[in-house]
Amino acid sequence: MVTTSKKIQLSSHTVKALKHNEQYSHSLIKNDSDIIVLVNEESIVTFVSPSITPILGYAPEEIVGCHVLVLVHPDDLDTVQWMLGEIGQSPGKSLSAEYRLCCKDGSWRWIEGSGTNLLHVPGIEAIVGNFRDVTERKVAPHSHWSEMSVSEHFVQFYESEVFLLDSLSGFIDTGLSAGDACIVIATKAHRERLEERLKAKGLDLIAAHTRGEYIALDAVETLSKFMVDGLPEPQRFLEIIGSIIRQAGEGRLRVRAFGEMVALLWEEGNQAGAIHLEELWNDLARTHSFSLFCAYPMHGFGKAAHGAPFTEIGTHHTRVIPAESYNALATPDERLRAVTLLQQKAESLHAEIMERKEVEKALRISETRYRRLFEAARDGVLILDPRTRKILDANPFMEELLGYTREELIGKELFEIGLHKDEQANQDAFRKLQENHYIRYEDLPLKTKRGERRDIEVVANLYEEEDKPIIQYNIRDISARKKLERQKDEFISMASHELKTPVTSLKGFLNLLQRRLTSPEDEKELHYLARMNAQVHKLAKLINDLLDISKMQTGQLVYREEHFDVDALVQEIVENIQGTTQTHHLLLESQTQAEAFGDRDRLGQVLINLLNNAIKYSPQASTVLVRVTKDQNNALVSVQDFGIGIAKEHQQKIFERFYQVTDPEERTYPGLGIGLYISLEIVKRHGGQIWVESKKGEGTTFHFTLPLFQEGKRQVSL
Ligand code: ADP
Repeated sequence: MVTTSKKIQLSSHTVKALKHNEQYSHSLIKNDSDIIVLVNEESIVTFVSPSITPILGYAPEEIVGCHVLVLVHPDDLDTVQWMLGEIGQSPGKSLSAEYRLCCKDGSWRWIEGSGTNLLHVPGIEAIVGNFRDVTERKVAPHSHWSEMSVSEHFVQFYESEVFLLDSLSGFIDTGLSAGDACIVIATKAHRERLEERLKAKGLDLIAAHTRGEYIALDAVETLSKFMVDGLPEPQRFLEIIGSIIRQAGEGRLRVRAFGEMVALLWEEGNQAGAIHLEELWNDLARTHSFSLFCAYPMHGFGKAAHGAPFTEIGTHHTRVIPAESYNALATPDERLRAVTLLQQKAESLHAEIMERKEVEKALRISETRYRRLFEAARDGVLILDPRTRKILDANPFMEELLGYTREELIGKELFEIGLHKDEQANQDAFRKLQENHYIRYEDLPLKTKRGERRDIEVVANLYEEEDKPIIQYNIRDISARKKLERQKDEFISMASHELKTPVTSLKGFLNLLQRRLTSPEDEKELHYLARMNAQVHKLAKLINDLLDISKMQTGQLVYREEHFDVDALVQEIVENIQGTTQTHHLLLESQTQAEAFGDRDRLGQVLINLLNNAIKYSPQASTVLVRVTKDQNNALVSVQDFGIGIAKEHQQKIFERFYQVTDPEERTYPGLGIGLYISLEIVKRHGGQIWVESKKGEGTTFHFTLPLFQEGKRQVSL
């Protein structure tokens, strides 16, 4: 009673009640390592003794307030519920049963629990429970320890340390109690915990040690004495361990040994060493008489590759004891069920592994494919980190393109290799990428490491790779294409210059001839000359257009700066063009008193292009409408025809240089595809806009705007 009251902090009220109740105190002090529990009428735990902690791992306050069945194993619930029901019905009744309770670490302990109904006893009013840990008896292969033959070599697998120590303490306790010599070659932690348990069982280890019955050795140290180059040296092993066993066995019936050295080697990954050592133990057993207990933690066999050595370990032992999950099963039926479950588990694991292997294989294939594409690409590819803006990877073609090695490229920012002109441009590009996930540069000049110019086209994407954002720059060398374009431009420029001189003199001689032919008989010749003149005029216009293009390309086209009356310009041109056509009637619908600023002739050229196109592309129609309107800032000129129209997909492209719609019906129209390009350039230079509205087969309207001339306001500088 005195010792118990020290350990169990009952409330003074309860203690007082206990003192007055002999029956209760009797059950309470039965054994001070037992757990005492008080349960009220609602089956709620109102008190737990501190001895719960070493057994189940919980502090008493974690359990007080819980339902009494909270820790009971699901398979034992029926038993415990029945027992509680029986006790609860009869005051003073006492019953006991064995069942499993759950420890805080999730493992199970077997408990022998008895309960007594003292609900009617004033001051107690509780069912008093008394729990004893009987796991060792229930679970450990206890019956073997004394039955063990003199030279048994068995292996015990374990999942929890507690289970190992339960088994081991049973093995040694049985041995020491029978007067056997016991040798323990274990880690320091295991030796200490084993000795605690043996002492708790009442064994005097110091005396046993003095008598030479209990020999404890450190596994690491002992191992180091005979290991050579990762393997146990047979001679040394036989000498060292043999002499220990011989000494221990002197004058005693039997020797028991527990060895953990094999498990240590296994855990180090030295499987060959472990198996070799098992063989040496077996060799030793041929000349020495002892039983040997080996232990391996189950977690050391988690890999598929462990299958074969695991089986081999089994063959080196006379007996194999499975880890606690299966060892605790008492009947053959329970074991068969467990084996079935294990088979299912193994089957599903196998299936899962195969599935994973398939996925891994697919992944490897796609990775290799990606890598190959990356490596063989004839585009330069750079992979960048969006956060640091630094290059993470570059493909071989990138090295070829720029002359930098991959190592030189990695870690650099793009402006450092001249891809963006400076740090600011670099940052802007990254910002744009964050916003749109995509950017494209049509022609970016770039210098190689050796200073050579390269024209490139760049497409950059931002995407996620394994949840991490990545930027990829694809860089295409378009230097060859650009060079060809430049050559073409040069040729056009040169050819048009060369053509201009003879055409100018042709024009001059034509005029001369026209002036000379004055008599009425010359009418026919004059008619031919007029037609020649028209053709020469067309030729001159084509040559001028080509020259204009070359000048525009090189920025050499000069614009006059003047302000002029838009109505007058439009009227003049409409009249001129009307003079050239007999098929179409040009209708000037509206007028406006607008004044614009810029090169009157060039802007006139735009309207001429549009009117000529309107006539050319509406052979079946007879009217072309011209409208001039204005708003606050701009004059708007529109030219509408009722001709063949332009399909949507061509409407943007027709403003490109040399672009012509090449559908079969359009092929018959003559032209070079430069009129609209020149018009766009001219309007753009004046700060205006040009666009088209059209429906295939129904006609087309071109519009262009011109900023109005405003007194005192600065005009666009051309
Ligand atoms: P082109 O000398 O071929 O007329 P342009 O640059 O003036 O060159 O026009 C480009 C293309 O746009 C033409 O080839 C034609 O297919 C189309 N186009 C231009 N104006 C019209 C229009 N009024 N109606 C239908 N198609 C037109």
